[in-house]
Amino acid sequence: MQAHVFIGLGSNLDDPRGQLRRAIDAIAAIRGVHLRATSSFYASAPVGYDDQPDFVNAVVEVVTELPPAALLERLQQIEQTQGRQRSFRNAPRTLDLDLLLYGDHRQADPDLTLPHPRCHQRAFVLLPLKEIAPDCVIPGKGAVAALVVGCRDQAVARMVD
Ligand code: ADP
Ligand code: MG
Repeated sequence: MQAHVFIGLGSNLDDPRGQLRRAIDAIAAIRGVHLRATSSFYASAPVGYDDQPDFVNAVVEVVTELPPAALLERLQQIEQTQGRQRSFRNAPRTLDLDLLLYGDHRQADPDLTLPHPRCHQRAFVLLPLKEIAPDCVIPGKGAVAALVVGCRDQAVARMVD
């Protein structure tokens, strides 16, 4: 069984764009994962803790036969490889990889909640997601195209290369 999966990427340390490019290459190289689409990069103001650099964010779509927990484990390995330190909540980070949607699968395990519990409220997720999947619906939350309207007050801008 193949699942359509969306992964959110974020970085605000040590060349964020380079971090995202390397992470996308690493995701594409996971055995059993096939990269289908990559959004533009977006610049976003930090959420939760202001005294840190802006983030660069993106979303990728993959098709995979890996189950959700195995995929999250691979993503966490990539975070580690790229020097992720877990200091405090909302701290600056070289790389954050979030499993946003795994098909229409829903689960509420604290180690892996699907859909990602905050993705429907975050413009830095919704704008790149809408770019690559305009008709996407977040199970239990609604259409991405409608959800973006609810976060128009958040400062997020598509970056030009
Ligand atoms: P955040 O992304 O919320 O800033 P972290 O990246 O430090 O925070 O993640 C904290 C924990 O969230 C991880 O240990 C992971 O097990 C858990 N988690 C729960 N659901 C998800 C998900 N959908 N994607 C990624 N991590 C998740
Ligand atoms: Mg995370």
